[in-house]
Amino acid sequence: MSETIFDKIINREIPADILYEDDEVMAFSDVNPQAPVHFLVIPKQRIPTVNDLQPEHAPLVGKMVLVARQVARDKGIAEDGYRLIMNCNRHGGQTIYHLHLHVLGGRPLHEGLLPG
Ligand code: 5GP
Repeated sequence: MSETIFDKIINREIPADILYEDDEVMAFSDVNPQAPVHFLVIPKQRIPTVNDLQPEHAPLVGKMVLVARQVARDKGIAEDGYRLIMNCNRHGGQTIYHLHLHVLGGRPLHEGLLPG
C-alpha cells in the first residue's frame, strides 16, 4: 500500500481546502470540481479501495457518510440534494488509491446513475 497524494494532504505536505477534520476522517474540496460543490471525504487510515474494506471498517465508512451529510449541510446544498460516489478500481474510474467518497451538488445532476 503505497502513499498517495491524499496522505500528503493529511500530513499538510501539500495544501488543500480542508472542510472538516477529526482523528479519523478528513473532507476537502476536489481540485478539479465536476459541480459547483465537489468535495471528498477520506479516512486518514490508508485503505486503497472499497475492495479492501473489512467488517471492522463499518463504523469508519458510516462516519464518512455522516461527515458528507454535515459538510453538505454547511455548504448549503443539503435541501436541494447531492450525490455520493465511491469509485472502485479501473472500471469504476478510480485514479487515487486511497478510499474516498465524492460529494457533488450545487446544480441538478442527470437523473440516473452517472454524474451529468
Ligand atoms: P477518483 O477518480 O480516484 O475517484 O477521484 C480522485 C479525485 O481526486 C478526482 O476527482 C481529482 O480531481 C481529485 N484530486 C486529485 N489530486 C488532487 C489533489 O492534489 N488535491 C485535491 N484536492 N483533489 C485531488
